[in-house]
Amino acid sequence: MGNTFRVFHSRTLPEEKIKDGSNFSRDSRGNWFLNIVIDVACAAEARQPVKGVGIDLGLKDFAALSIGKKIGAQRIYRDAEAALAVAQRAGKKKRVKAIHAQMANRRSDFHHKLSTRLVKEFDYIAVGNVNAAGLARTSMAKSVLDAGWSFFRTQLAYKAVKHGAWFEEVNEAFSSQVCSDCGALPDSRPKGIADLGIRNWMCSDCGCVHDRDVNAAKNILNKSGFRAGHGTPVVGIPAL
Ligand SMILES: [Zn+2]
Repeated sequence: MGNTFRVFHSRTLPEEKIKDGSNFSRDSRGNWFLNIVIDVACAAEARQPVKGVGIDLGLKDFAALSIGKKIGAQRIYRDAEAALAVAQRAGKKKRVKAIHAQMANRRSDFHHKLSTRLVKEFDYIAVGNVNAAGLARTSMAKSVLDAGWSFFRTQLAYKAVKHGAWFEEVNEAFSSQVCSDCGALPDSRPKGIADLGIRNWMCSDCGCVHDRDVNAAKNILNKSGFRAGHGTPVVGIPAL
């Protein structure tokens, strides 16, 4: 556009060809960034989908995995809340902005590390399409949660391609109500928001005891195109 800007490298750029470098963004502290689009040599060859994982994103834990692991929610807010309150009461606008920027950085760092770990460990990644409507109380909390989840899913998708893993976003309707063991929709299942507090339940059909979120993660994997032992994923599995 005829303007010249001086920039410094906050990180080294990949070797590949720069496609575009004309877009700027600014963080809450007022720092300006130059966004650079780079053509990255295509992806590793797709791996055989041997190890699959289903991921249920949530509020209490950031994620539950179908293999039974849970990844705790970041303590970003609780840690920063006190400091934020002090700064707000004192009317220190600069400090408030700095704390917000710090939180955003930590969140993004957490998402980056976790998504990298997952695409390296698993060949097939199925993640639920959760959104915060009806889950969070305030619209502020909703937008923060949604932004975090969609950012994380985007990270997973592009890193999966880069590492030759498979990625699928799965409609997670009923994923926390169906028994992942026998496939029934038993009477004993947790139902809707009223039963959000139920962490464990037993399937009245088969007697299997479930952790609510791990069961959801298992169903998300079951609903995906991943089929253990099959060379190619099945696409277009109908919803449960
Ligand atoms: Zn069952």
